[in-house]
Amino acid sequence: MKYYKYLSRSKKKMNIGKIVCLARTYKKHAEEMKAITTKEPLLFLKPNSSVIYNGENIVIPKRSNSVHHEVELGIIIGKKAKNIKIKNSMDYIFGYVIALDITARDIQSEAKRNGWPWGIAKGFDTFTPISDVILKKDIKNPMNLDISLKVNNEIRQKSNTKNLIFTIEEIISYISSIMTLEPGDLILTGTPEGVEEIKKGDNLSANLENILTLEVNVK
Ligand code: MG
Repeated sequence: MKYYKYLSRSKKKMNIGKIVCLARTYKKHAEEMKAITTKEPLLFLKPNSSVIYNGENIVIPKRSNSVHHEVELGIIIGKKAKNIKIKNSMDYIFGYVIALDITARDIQSEAKRNGWPWGIAKGFDTFTPISDVILKKDIKNPMNLDISLKVNNEIRQKSNTKNLIFTIEEIISYISSIMTLEPGDLILTGTPEGVEEIKKGDNLSANLENILTLEVNVK
């Protein structure tokens, strides 16, 4: 395996902007959620106050009795993007991260049942752990990357971005047709199957293609 350079947090701290997330982008995950996939990407937002980094702690909120992990490829935007054509989308990427879209599943289920937004279920502080950033030039094909998550050293999620139902180009183009993407914005591309509950004391280790690792604990 070739050695890939990445920007470590200590060398250059990224200021993460808005976080645009996709749901139901892996068929098997949609199935495990008893949900259907959609023709166009299904978007929601997370606050950037939810971001934490390697070595930090996910805090289980008192309001939830069921917090789940979702491992995802994250895309960091490098320049302002508005109404971008699919074929030009890659020009707007700065780099990639491996990320966790931590979700209060009980709160989300209640919201789904009632037709309420998902903001609370996804928006707690510490609910978006992200790794260091690997630069775009160091990833040949972002649509063929192994992503995985171990909890307490046991594999919970394991897939490849080739299983995404939309291409990264389509995702960026689609989002930019709705809202302007700005440098530092983070797109979470959705999670594969295998989401499960996390508990206090758990150790989570997410991996992208053996290039990037993200390690956090649950407090
Ligand atoms: Mg997610």
